[in-house]
Amino acid sequence: MWIGTEFKVEKQQHDFRLPAVVLTEDGATSVTGDHGSVIFRVENLTKIYTTGEVEVRALNGVNLSLLAAEMVVLLGPSGSGKSTLLNIIGGLDDATSGHVWFKGDDLTQYSQRQLTRYRREHVGFVFQFYNLIPSLTARENVALVTDVALDPMPPEEALAMVDLGNRMGHFPAQLSGGEQQRVAIARAIAKRPEVLFCDEPTGALDSKTGILVLEALSRINEELGTTTAIITHNAGIQQIAHRVYSFMDGKIDSERKNAERVAPSEVSW
Ligand code: ADP
Repeated sequence: MWIGTEFKVEKQQHDFRLPAVVLTEDGATSVTGDHGSVIFRVENLTKIYTTGEVEVRALNGVNLSLLAAEMVVLLGPSGSGKSTLLNIIGGLDDATSGHVWFKGDDLTQYSQRQLTRYRREHVGFVFQFYNLIPSLTARENVALVTDVALDPMPPEEALAMVDLGNRMGHFPAQLSGGEQQRVAIARAIAKRPEVLFCDEPTGALDSKTGILVLEALSRINEELGTTTAIITHNAGIQQIAHRVYSFMDGKIDSERKNAERVAPSEVSW
């Protein structure tokens, strides 16, 4: 029986109000308040994959912007081009035509060497499968990145941000899928990237563990101001974003701001 002083721990309340982002009629973005400048501007992006005689038009003229410190969901059915877009703006793949402006630089004109440096210094990736090294502990998996980054946070701090401060000495096999994904998120943010690209981060998880992963992503977005783009085909997840781009057949079908964001724990899965 608990007979000591009663503690009431106030969980930090995140601010899920509308961001001060205004999209003008011509598609330009003007911003006030917390969400800063345009970090990425994608113009008329196309990507055609050619396999033998077959051409697949994965992106068919995509235009969008990502703003500093905002959380964006890229929603759409499988095969609609979301991963292709993220791979190109993350510097993992090249475009067929169009432009990706990253703060005034056109990534489509970068050499492989410049792209490698861009990825290393500016971008964090989170994928559906966690890609942790099984023989290393959670702390060591994160330290692999912090050992070579320019201005990293200590692995312990990164793991605490995803609520795994008490699991640092565990190996991946000793962690649940959701916990492994949170280690992967800690690894991605430990180098303090400006932008975090997440491709179906909850795709392999049930709702309970998926929500913990979304909570970790929301906390990082709030506390570090990391611009975050999340790919999902789960329509419920769009509710946590500031803005949502919906994809269909290699194009953006619609774009909207969330008038009311919901906390990850309120997401209807
Ligand atoms: P999503 O992420 O929305 O599921 P993708 O971007 O993965 O969609 O794929 C868009 C289209 O491009 C699909 O038809 C897919 O089969 C095709 N595609 C993706 N990557 C390749 C590739 N490396 N080679 C050939 N076709 C590809």
